Amino acid sequence: MPSIAYQDGRWIVPDQPTIPFIEGDGTGPDIWRGAVRVFDAAIAKTSGGARKVEWLEVLAGEKAFKATGSWLPDETLDVIRRYRVAIKGPLTTPVGGGMRSLNVALRQLLDLYACIRPVRYFKGVPAPVTNPGRLDVVIFRENIEDVYAGIEYQAESAEARALIEFLRDRFGAKIRPESAIGIKPMSKFGSQRLVVKAIQYAIKSGRPSVTLVHKGNIMKFTEGGFRDWGYAVAAERFGAQTIPESDTGGARVPQGKVLIKDRIADAMFQQLVLRPREYSVIAAPNLNGDYLSDAAAAQVGGLGLAPGGNVGDGYAVYEATHGTAPKYAGQDKVNPSSVILSGVMMFEELGWDDVARAIVRGLEAAVLTKRVTYDLARQLPGATEVSTSAFADTIIEHLA
Ligand code: NAP
Repeated sequence: MPSIAYQDGRWIVPDQPTIPFIEGDGTGPDIWRGAVRVFDAAIAKTSGGARKVEWLEVLAGEKAFKATGSWLPDETLDVIRRYRVAIKGPLTTPVGGGMRSLNVALRQLLDLYACIRPVRYFKGVPAPVTNPGRLDVVIFRENIEDVYAGIEYQAESAEARALIEFLRDRFGAKIRPESAIGIKPMSKFGSQRLVVKAIQYAIKSGRPSVTLVHKGNIMKFTEGGFRDWGYAVAAERFGAQTIPESDTGGARVPQGKVLIKDRIADAMFQQLVLRPREYSVIAAPNLNGDYLSDAAAAQVGGLGLAPGGNVGDGYAVYEATHGTAPKYAGQDKVNPSSVILSGVMMFEELGWDDVARAIVRGLEAAVLTKRVTYDLARQLPGATEVSTSAFADTIIEHLA
């Protein structure tokens, strides 16, 4: 079965690639059934049948556990490694299963170091701000280090006590002995490869700026390091294509250059609400990026329409950003848009821009018909609630 290859930083995509998928737990199967029909219809329509994806199911989560006794079987990872690009629905996080989260495990095992979340407004979707259409950002969040490194010890545990004593005896740090301890490692390597991805994306997609979001005024060496390493790699690797804000002297950015700026995390939340047009691509460490992605998604109408991609060098897994919504499982009820838009990101990354555009137009038109899933219907005056599959049908009818 033909697989996608990766050479010199580029994807090589056959006309009929095999793409593994994990349908997900809870409502995952309902969503996937709708989404895959939209993908196939858009590919067929844009290529007149010349292109086709061979979808290959791999197991993870509850379905995998029932079939194999493992939440994340080695075979799943092997297949994703072989085919390089995959898409997944939401997965239940096993409670007390010895694994913090399947999603985190997948990202770390495949070194998917950039979590990419585009946030834009879809006309007709109810949103809490007056002009939601002004926000159009793509957030690149570091996906491996910082709090995701998971170095944390319970209060009064032997590990926490030992660390507190070490920090006190060695460096004179004053820490209450009964404290819990968390450590956030952030490296130059990890920060720079994330910023590089964000800048490459801005250049490729003609976006005007990349903003480094950090809390470097307080955490000078981790968060401040992220900012400094970010500016440094922009200058070293993209000196001809970028300009730091400090070099503009307040004047217009020269044509064709990407502006590199930085903002302190707390101020950034305010900026996105008050001056959304000034932000385009955002690069952030793990925790800042986590908060910011959800806050930005809320600004344009919520997580139901928010896609995500976890991307490394030569591997990528696209996924819905919401969870399994288990209370609606099997009811053909929830909104499939998050997985559908994750597919849009995947097709864009693979260079199938025509497929991506057709789906986005179909989705925009479907929302405007006001025949939408319950989550949108309950907020949209005059809307009619339809099932997951009926909403997928409406998108397919409007592919353009
Ligand atoms: P959740 O599954 O995201 O559901 C919370 C609420 O969000 C739902 O009750 C529903 O709200 C709304 N919602 C979620 N998906 C929707 C969709 N497709 N369409 C419309 N509305 C949607 O969060 P959770 O209940 O906290 O988590 C459930 C499980 O998912 C847990 O095991 C968690 O660990 C896992 N999880 C997985 C991922 C992932 O795989 N990426 C991410 C987050 C959580 P209303 O009931 O108000 O309509």
